Amino acid sequence: MPELPEVEVTVRELRGPLAGRRIVDVRTDWPKYFHLPKSEEEFRICVKGRRIEAIHRRAKYILIHLSRSHLLLVHQKISGRLQMGKWAWNPAASQGAGRWQPAASADNAPQGGRFIHLVFELDNGEQLGLSDLRKFAKVMCGPERDILDLPELRVLGPEPLSPRLTFPNFERLFHRKRGNLKEVLMDPAFIAGIGNLYSDEILYTALLHPLTRVEHLQTPQFRILYRSMRTVLRKAIRLGATGRRAPDGSRQGYDRVLLVYGREGECCPHGHVIERIKVSGRSAHFCPVEQLRM
Ligand SMILES: [Zn+2]
Repeated sequence: MPELPEVEVTVRELRGPLAGRRIVDVRTDWPKYFHLPKSEEEFRICVKGRRIEAIHRRAKYILIHLSRSHLLLVHQKISGRLQMGKWAWNPAASQGAGRWQPAASADNAPQGGRFIHLVFELDNGEQLGLSDLRKFAKVMCGPERDILDLPELRVLGPEPLSPRLTFPNFERLFHRKRGNLKEVLMDPAFIAGIGNLYSDEILYTALLHPLTRVEHLQTPQFRILYRSMRTVLRKAIRLGATGRRAPDGSRQGYDRVLLVYGREGECCPHGHVIERIKVSGRSAHFCPVEQLRM
């Protein structure tokens, strides 16, 4: 599931090709993507003819600012990935295989175009496609004020990498907060964009056990946690985040340097065997030797 770094990398990749382009049409074989407006026809009216003015990220949402103060919001959810490419619509193809096939002349990303279910046609003939095996992504469009006012956006906690989230502000978030560290870090209303993978990586870097109670932490530990959070997320963005494969199928980016996540039974960077436990229904990977519970 894409987390802050994955979405940030996607936004940075799309910013150049999308800036200044006009959306001339939108097409899908899965109209359930449209959450606002819910009807495909109304959604088309909302985006069609508008120019893309800017593209940003908030938590795990991609925010595409359109002309006349409209906002196109995409949440990629579990398996979605927005990408540029060239696909040809093939109505004869079976639903399962996907009705978009990579165009013969296309220079698509290595994994691009296998599960394309939504395509925005741009005025220069390029396409912005949503590859989405599980089809859980969602898209919304409307006046910027209305979209930013949606409860799911308003409830979001601060951005972990924002310059406004200074250490004193970070520490203040924990006032009167209770619960285990892993669960608190993954709460989007507490802090935005951190999920299962990066919470494990951050807690290993900070040498804090996932079940540590936040009410037991003191300023020195908050300082280490703050620094670890920013270091891990920045490093992941710099490396291209996770979920990308080289043309030969080998791991790329942050997948190659994972410290503990998904590595149960393997060794941590200091040679101890990584363990996995359940924390509120999710898996937490950690080093039982270095990450002590407080
Ligand atoms: Zn260790």
